[in-house]
Amino acid sequence: MNPRVCFLYSVLLAAGSLLMALNVLSCASRPPPSPGDFEFPGNREREPEPEPRAPEFSPEEAGSFPSIEEIVADAGLLLAFDDDYADIWERYLDLFDRYEVRVTFFVQGDYSPFCTVAENRGHEIGYHTKNHFNLLKVSRQEFLEETVGGAESFRQQGIPLKAFAYPYGYSEPWMDEILWENFPILRGFGTTFRVYNADAIKAGYISSKSIDNNQYKDDAEFEADISDMFTSIKLSGGFLPLTTHTIAAEAPWGISPDRLEYLLKTAAELELKFYRYGDFF
Ligand SMILES: [Zn+2]
Repeated sequence: MNPRVCFLYSVLLAAGSLLMALNVLSCASRPPPSPGDFEFPGNREREPEPEPRAPEFSPEEAGSFPSIEEIVADAGLLLAFDDDYADIWERYLDLFDRYEVRVTFFVQGDYSPFCTVAENRGHEIGYHTKNHFNLLKVSRQEFLEETVGGAESFRQQGIPLKAFAYPYGYSEPWMDEILWENFPILRGFGTTFRVYNADAIKAGYISSKSIDNNQYKDDAEFEADISDMFTSIKLSGGFLPLTTHTIAAEAPWGISPDRLEYLLKTAAELELKFYRYGDFF
């Protein structure tokens, strides 16, 4: 285990019972990292979803707190890759196998054979619209073609598409109402660290934190953020959605191979499980 994770985890474990007694673990939120140049004007920051308040932490049940082992059993990651980088992603399927990690690819466009390859290897295909338009700026008819219409070619090929990710994270509540009839889980996008419990995910909308290269000034900052987030959910429980795009060292919207491997290694060290969005439905 790398020293930072090891140290943080030891401290958290040692402090665990005291913190639980103080009942301060119910909120896993914390300020986002410096947003850098990441600015999506108008990106809807929704009201916080129900916090990852596992019933274990409710005051009524004080005195019957679960063990650390019981809490961490529910900790997990929802790792997603967005857009149209199938040729790149395919090169990393062996790496995911090596770490026994399953992820969700939110693909844009039409069905491609990658979707079947990825699903056959245990990953999930989610949908991310036909053309990646800002859905706030298209007609109602275009909205339907971009979303429900675009999903058809996948479903004809046996790809169920349970999850949908809004391009740029932009959405309005009326869109949710339409899309929930076609996708049980909808996903937004932002810079905020948010942890969800299973009920909150099943409610149908979660927002995912960007871990793209452009969110961090260097590898050290990325590694510190990953270590802090992972050790935090290891103790608090709950599910952390993280999103990036391509896998390349220089891409602003993507994760470098080294950072990806650091993320996978850190999760393995902490025995954090990986979930696909569809696992909750
Ligand atoms: Zn996208």
